[in-house]
This record gives sequence, structure tokens and C-alpha cells, in this order.
Amino acid sequence: MRKNIVAGNWKMHKTNSETVALLQEIITKNGTPNCEVIVAPTFINLKTAVDTVVGKNITVAAQNMHQAEGGAFTGEIAANMLTDIGVNTIILGHSERRAYFHETDALLASKVDTAMKHEMRVIFCFGEELKDRQIDNHFNIVEYQLRDGLFHLEKKDWKNIVLAYEPVWAIGTGETASPEQAQEMHKFIRDLIAKVYGHDVADEVTILYGGSVKPDNAKEIFSKPDVDGGLIGGASLKADDFLAIVNAF
Ligand code: PGA
Repeated sequence: MRKNIVAGNWKMHKTNSETVALLQEIITKNGTPNCEVIVAPTFINLKTAVDTVVGKNITVAAQNMHQAEGGAFTGEIAANMLTDIGVNTIILGHSERRAYFHETDALLASKVDTAMKHEMRVIFCFGEELKDRQIDNHFNIVEYQLRDGLFHLEKKDWKNIVLAYEPVWAIGTGETASPEQAQEMHKFIRDLIAKVYGHDVADEVTILYGGSVKPDNAKEIFSKPDVDGGLIGGASLKADDFLAIVNAF
């Protein structure tokens, strides 16, 4: 049985004290969710977050990582710095990293390799832009992103891969893919994984949807058979909204 996940990507929001306050509110109000709950604060607040959620069934993830093991890379963070503080899950390939920090599929493939070497779990983000969908090229774009970022992996690596389909036109725009559009793409992705790695891998891999998931649309999106949860941006910054989405399962 594949796992359902709701992950909050806090992006460049929340100071250290705000991180603690939001986590404490989530912990206090959280019941017993039917999915794994992940939060991804900014680097500087990761250790505090890890310490705050001890024993609370919340996973702390990072939003990025450098591909090198260490060295003269001013301003960057290496895998062992994350695992050393108890962060073993990482978001890679977010569309903001691709667009504003020029992360290419080849670079992402090497970041994924480093994560695999450190036995980290990767939430790998990908998705088409509006112009791709307008010319009906979205399936091709998604296929290339998966092929160039992930399909060099061995079958055994897939136990540490979570996919996050995030159409760029739906991120932070208030514009959500319809549940049918999400399902259509998620099914395409699962069929593609089955073709390349076999049905056992495809059936087990968790595929999240991301892009303007809110309390009022989460239930319908998550009810689709190939949607196993969500990667949540804006709505993950308020405990009540985030937990309403968590409890949509
Ligand atoms: P959003 O962001 O929920 O604010 O659209 C999603 C994301 O960037 O992962």
C-alpha cells in the first residue's frame, strides 16, 4: 500500500520564533491524521523544527541541497549537514528553483544521486508551464523532466522517491488544476513509471499534487485514485488551513 502524504513547503517564510509557534500550533491542533505530515521550513530553522517535533509524528524536510559532498561552495548546504541534524527528506526540483536559480534537469539528477547516496528521501517536483499546456505539450514536458531527472536511477532507489506533480501555472496563482486534470496527469505518470520500472514500482510510488491546494479543494483532489496527497505552499503557513488539508484524507 502506497503512502499518503501532505507536505507543507514553507518557502522563504517564517523566522525562527515563527517556525516554533506554527509548529506548536500544528502539534496542538493535530489529531491522528491518515497520512504522513511533512513540513519544510527554511534551512536556518531546520534544527529548531526537528527539535520541536520530536515524538510528534511530523517529518521535517529541507527545500534544497547542494550536490557536492562539501567544499568551497559559499552559501550552500551539503547532504551530511542535513542528515546530521535529523533531516532525511528533501524537496528537489521545485519550479521556483528551476526558474529563479536555473536548476536544470542534469543538475537535479546529480542532486538526486547525492541524496540517494545518503539514503535520503527525495520529493521530486516537476510540471509544465502554461504555454506547454496551451499547445498540448504537457505530457511530453513531464515525461522529459522525469526521464532526465530520475530515470537513471536503479529500481531499488525508488523506495526513496516521492513524486510531486506541480503545474507551474497553478503554483501560488489560486488557479488549481481540476481534479480531473490532476488525475489524468497522475495516471500518465504512474503508467510511465510502470513502463520503465515495472508495475511494482509504479503501484508503490507516492504521487503528490501541488498548486493552490486549499482546504476547500483538497478533498476532491485527494479523492482521485492516482493522487496520493499534496505539496502545499501558501495554505501550509496557517495551522488551521494546513490541518484542514491534512484531514482531507
Ligand atoms: P501553492 O504552492 O500551494 O502556494 O500554490 C505550491 C508549491 O509551490 O509547492
